[in-house]
Amino acid sequence: MNVVKFGGSSVANGNQIKKIGAIIQGEPERKFVVVSAPGKRYKNDLKMTDLLIETGELAFQNKRYTEKLDLVLDRFSEIVKELNISTTILDDIKNSIQSIINSDDESRGLKMDALKSIGEDSCAKVVSEYLKTLGLNAHYVNPKDAGIIVSNEPGHAQILPDSFSKLYGLRQREGIIVIPGFFGFTKNNRLITFSRGGSDITGSLVAAGVKADLYENFTDVDSVYSVNPAIVENPREIKTLTYKEMRELSYAGFSVFHDEALIPAFQQKIPVCIKNTNNPKASGTMIVANKKPSKKCVVGIASDAGFSSLYVSKYLMNRELGFGRKLLQILEEESISFEHAPSGIDDMSVIIRDTQLTASKEEAIKNRIKKELQPDMIMFNRNLAMIMIVGEGIMSTVGIAQKATTALTDANVNIEMINQGSSDVSMMFGIQSEGLNRAIQSLYKVFFE
Ligand code: ASP
Repeated sequence: MNVVKFGGSSVANGNQIKKIGAIIQGEPERKFVVVSAPGKRYKNDLKMTDLLIETGELAFQNKRYTEKLDLVLDRFSEIVKELNISTTILDDIKNSIQSIINSDDESRGLKMDALKSIGEDSCAKVVSEYLKTLGLNAHYVNPKDAGIIVSNEPGHAQILPDSFSKLYGLRQREGIIVIPGFFGFTKNNRLITFSRGGSDITGSLVAAGVKADLYENFTDVDSVYSVNPAIVENPREIKTLTYKEMRELSYAGFSVFHDEALIPAFQQKIPVCIKNTNNPKASGTMIVANKKPSKKCVVGIASDAGFSSLYVSKYLMNRELGFGRKLLQILEEESISFEHAPSGIDDMSVIIRDTQLTASKEEAIKNRIKKELQPDMIMFNRNLAMIMIVGEGIMSTVGIAQKATTALTDANVNIEMINQGSSDVSMMFGIQSEGLNRAIQSLYKVFFE
């Protein structure tokens, strides 16, 4: 039994959904289908989820939202017409959106989550109807009915362990089960969505719950590439990755797979295959628990800009009990999570994503550290980019750092930070964002050409 998940581009219009039909037909092991909401049809198109969020934002400020609502309906109307299925769903969508907007008994966060879920929910109904027209015994199953139980954190649901045994019961159901991705229900029946891109999480969760033989995640690329194809032309495809490698790559900018989505599949050791809806014959990338060790251990190079480092220095820091804890506690109390924290004897840097750091937060943190920790020096260093060289066995392979630093030197890129040893599958370099593309191109040459 396989779980197949189709991302936004795979359900962007009727033509794409027809490809899903062809992928499922004649493949009886593809029993569980999870879908995203319709994504972009072309570069500057809007995603359905963004349209629904914009509708909600206008409505909650008591502004006119009918144009946005019409765009949502037009999008679905186009899809059902292309698929030649009943248009009754359009009224259901309109009524659901209006009743969520007009309801008084929910908080804004919960109402927004209910609105956002309509993209996936309606899409699952449409896909299931379409599969029926192909003669398949398909059934739409709501996440509540399927058993997806989550925490009460609007926009950031976490899976609760009770889900797994409930989901296992789905194996007994007849035919093809079509489940909307991206949301679940709390024990008190509140609809809560995962973080953005979270349909991958649903797919992985269902795969773990039903103990699938394989979780196939269909996107619009033939495989996971060794570097970002926007930076290096035609980079090498990765055939096999371990969960750990995928986690490191998706953390640092490989947006092919949601980074939280691996956990359920990983815990149950369910292999994941990333495939292309537009080219389903391509073998794709397999993500597995273990793979044969290889001499060329580096599988990919990920990178992401948008980081800052908080640098704090104090003479004899290494002897001051609790210094690191107090520093991190200040960040915690300012609701800032940190990414890395390389340290020296008298210095400590904490790497933070810029999205968390407003000018006022920066000021508040600086003031508190000055007052509470009396450092000799404190500063924020902006415009940092992180590069992750990823591969099982990096820690025990001779010469990786030498190759990487030579590549960065060749590209005339200054290394501001190196972090090696805290993970056995990655080596991290911090550089100024301005040199990022040059750095990646040069690293690619050294490791893959
Ligand atoms: N539709 C949701 C989003 O755009 C979830 C997903 O597509 O995975 O974030």
